[in-house]
Amino acid sequence: MDTQPRYTLGDRQDDGRYPVTVDNTTEAGYVYRRHGSWYGVMPGQTEARRPDRFQAAYHLVRLIDAGHRPAEKAGLRLTSAARDLLISPHLRLTAPNIVRASEATARLAELGWRPLTGYPGADQSWRMACLLGCGWKGTRFWSHLRGRNGDNTPRPMCRHRGCIPQSQHADRIAAVATQAPDCTCEFKHVTTVVEAITYLPLALSAEANGWYSTAVHLARLLGPCPAASVRAKALRTALDDIL
Ligand SMILES: [Zn+2]
Ligand SMILES: [Zn+2]
Repeated sequence: MDTQPRYTLGDRQDDGRYPVTVDNTTEAGYVYRRHGSWYGVMPGQTEARRPDRFQAAYHLVRLIDAGHRPAEKAGLRLTSAARDLLISPHLRLTAPNIVRASEATARLAELGWRPLTGYPGADQSWRMACLLGCGWKGTRFWSHLRGRNGDNTPRPMCRHRGCIPQSQHADRIAAVATQAPDCTCEFKHVTTVVEAITYLPLALSAEANGWYSTAVHLARLLGPCPAASVRAKALRTALDDIL
C-alpha cells in the first residue's frame, strides 16, 4: 500500500519555518512550531493550528487541492545567507544603499557579469563571474566597472586576463546581457515606480512588521530579473522624486 505523504518538509530555516512542497513541485507555504502546537501557513490564507507538523503540512495539501496558491512563494526559501547574496551584510540597509545595489546589479547584467556575493558598496572589491563564455570568476571593483562622469564605458576595457578576444565582446554581451522591459519571473520583481514606492519602505521595516523577512523584500528589489535595468530606474525615481 502506498502511504507516501503528498507533502515534503524542507530543512528548518533560520526563522524556524519548514518549507512545505506538495506533490514534489508546488511550493505551498511552511509549518512552524509555537507553544507545543504546529501551524500550517499558506501566505495569504488563515493559519491552521494542528497537533503535529505532519497534520500541519497536510493542511497545505488540502489548500492546494482546493485551488489555493501562496500569495508569495519564492521568498520562503530565503535565509539570511540568501539575503547576504543580494547586499553585503557590511553595508547599512538604507533606501539609498538598496537603490545603488539595484543599479549596480542591473549594470553588471548589462555588461555580462554575474555577482557572486551581495553588492559591497562602490569602492569595495566584488566577486563576480564573467558571462562571456570564458568561465572566469574573480573580484572587480564596481567603481571601475560603472564608468564615470557620465561616460558609461567600463575601465579598464580589458575585462580580465584570459577572456575571449576583445573583438567578440560586443556580440557576446549583446547575446547574454539583453535586458527585458518587463519582469517575467514567477516571483514578481519591482518594475514600476508605484511598486518601488511600496516595496522599498517595506524592505526597511520588514523585520518589525510582517511575516516576510527583509530577505523576501530584498529579493523583490535585488534578485536576478531580466528587467533589472527597468527596476533600477523605477527605484531611483522613487528615491529621488518621492520618498
Ligand atoms: Zn571573460
Ligand atoms: Zn523578475
